[in-house]
Amino acid sequence: MADIEPVANEKTFEIKQSQTDGEIIAEVTADIATCKDCLNELFDKNNFRYRYPFINCTNCGPRYSIIKTIPYDRPNTTMSAFAMCDKCKEQYENVEDRRFHAQPVACPACGPKITLCDKTGKKIENKSDKVISETIRLLLEGKIVAIKGLGGFHLACNAENDEAVKTLRLRKMRDYKPFAMMAANIKKIKQFAVVDKKAKDVLQSIQAPIVLLPKKEPNTIAPSVAAGVNTFGFMLPYTPLHHLIFAEKKLNALVMTSGNISDEPLICKDDEAIEKLGNIADAFLMHDREIYRQVDDSIVHIIKNELVLLRRARGFVPQTFISKNSASADIFAVGADLKNTFCFVKQNRFIISEHIGDMADASVYKHWLGSIEHLKKLIEANPSVVVCDAHPNYFSSQYARKLKKDKLIEVQHHWAHIASVLAEHNINEKVIGLVADGTGYGNDGAIWGCECLIASLNDFQRFGHLAYYPLAGGDSAAKEAIRPIMGLMKKYNLSIPENILDEIEPDGKKRQTIEQQIEKNINTVQTSSLGRLFDAAAALCGLGSCNNFEAQLPMALEAIADKQVKESYLFALKENGVTTAEIGDMLKNIIEDKLNGTDRKVIAAKFHNTIAEFFFMLAKKAQDKTRIKTVAISGGVFCNRFLSERLIELLQKVGLTVLFNWLVPANDGGISLGQAAIAAKKMNKNKQD
Ligand code: ZN
Ligand code: ZN
Ligand code: FE
Repeated sequence: MADIEPVANEKTFEIKQSQTDGEIIAEVTADIATCKDCLNELFDKNNFRYRYPFINCTNCGPRYSIIKTIPYDRPNTTMSAFAMCDKCKEQYENVEDRRFHAQPVACPACGPKITLCDKTGKKIENKSDKVISETIRLLLEGKIVAIKGLGGFHLACNAENDEAVKTLRLRKMRDYKPFAMMAANIKKIKQFAVVDKKAKDVLQSIQAPIVLLPKKEPNTIAPSVAAGVNTFGFMLPYTPLHHLIFAEKKLNALVMTSGNISDEPLICKDDEAIEKLGNIADAFLMHDREIYRQVDDSIVHIIKNELVLLRRARGFVPQTFISKNSASADIFAVGADLKNTFCFVKQNRFIISEHIGDMADASVYKHWLGSIEHLKKLIEANPSVVVCDAHPNYFSSQYARKLKKDKLIEVQHHWAHIASVLAEHNINEKVIGLVADGTGYGNDGAIWGCECLIASLNDFQRFGHLAYYPLAGGDSAAKEAIRPIMGLMKKYNLSIPENILDEIEPDGKKRQTIEQQIEKNINTVQTSSLGRLFDAAAALCGLGSCNNFEAQLPMALEAIADKQVKESYLFALKENGVTTAEIGDMLKNIIEDKLNGTDRKVIAAKFHNTIAEFFFMLAKKAQDKTRIKTVAISGGVFCNRFLSERLIELLQKVGLTVLFNWLVPANDGGISLGQAAIAAKKMNKNKQD
């Protein structure tokens, strides 16, 4: 028992919120990690719920994932299938009891049970303790077990067994993307990664998210868990079942990756799991408490000692955010097409959905439609105003345009990014907005990505941006680094030695085609994308030539960048109505450094420093012109800690106030909040602002 650490009974959210003007109210509450009291009972031989995998109370357990409809009462949850026994009922009805009106209350006599099934779904064991010991045995043997959890299935294997992890990669057809892990306790995580005080608090919070932590080297985690990045994603056990598995002290860390097929939604239903995961898992650890809504694990990291969300889902959803703007009509913001979340506004209450995924996948789109209906019903929203991205071809925007509500508002992508920060911090004034992003549709038809805006919730102006370069190839432009490289070569008249280009794209014919496309402006866009510039820099550093998963190359570049290096490359700001950052000199210097044999750790750091500096210079210029002293930063590329921290330092050093995303991700997961905030401001009943 000594090694088992309960999650602390503190609310990360409320602590954070006390630093802003906003407040959080919870109506339908989020799923919460097992509390300390329940954990004590779980391992107390004299308690009638001793070793019961579904122990919970008013302070912990499933909520959002089991609610079918409101009000939040047992008959409206998937627990309606279980009739309470007398003992449970007594606690449920006793005002003095910790389980007073705890809707999922249950015990071994009356509640859900676990079973172990083979990969065809055939039961092989149903005695609770035997199920757990068998599961552990299989995992120690190097087998893959699909474990039904709180918000869906996990695919689990021993994280210290490289053979097992490689098998999982092979069967899941996931070659590179890092896997998340669950470890027994903080002490174990500390053997593998750096855990400071803040990280420890977040790991032990009631949300119990996956926290990205700097790797410790050497470590005993299988190399194939997270190659090419400098962090491990760890979470602590957050259900009684997880605690029972780790309490045997046989496993140090498990890979716990989402039970799904490639980019499809997380699987939460038993039949679908057996059908789709049967080829991946050797066995299923099942239970008979139905999961009504799938909810992924949340992912966070820590920037400047603040918790920053990368994926907002379990534990955080559907907490409501209160704004000082109160909308006169209900609003529905559809979000963006990548990392989609959507958001409803009811008066001054903002309710943001869980992470949905990337809309290009048909099953995600279908799941999105169902999720909209579910949340709408749950919070009784009746939107007459719809907000979407201004992108002509986003699936989400096309859907919004077809809805034919009273009012349709289209919002430029990067304005929505900055608005998400303004919404979180409850700010109506103008700020300098710095956006570091992959792609977003710009007002001029170009693909924007690296922007300096003067923005409020009322409007925005484009103050400056990374100078446009041509990018050929539509969707493959976000994957193949040769495309931005050739666009940048053309824009800045660069010559790159043939052997370097050969390393990145050995197919000379293909390079020629790209060159011609750029030359003739076929299938080519003008872009200020920063994400693609990162791809180019990473490839020039020899870190690969393709994003096998989103941001693989930029993450590899961040991973090697040497934090001790403070130097940067040359760049120029050019005035032409708007200010543009010209980076031809930087690219020339990168190629020179490479030819001189400069360590790529140094090149990577100098590149990051240059980007931070030109953002800083743009902000300084904007400040000189407008006298605005607050800078908001957002956009997916700011998920890069090196870049964010360096830029924040530069801005703070000259006395500027820096705001960044806390409640929603800086990536496109935050777009729906920004869209909703802009619409709510337009529909604001309090006209004094
Ligand atoms: Zn509890
Ligand atoms: Zn009972
Ligand atoms: Fe974006």
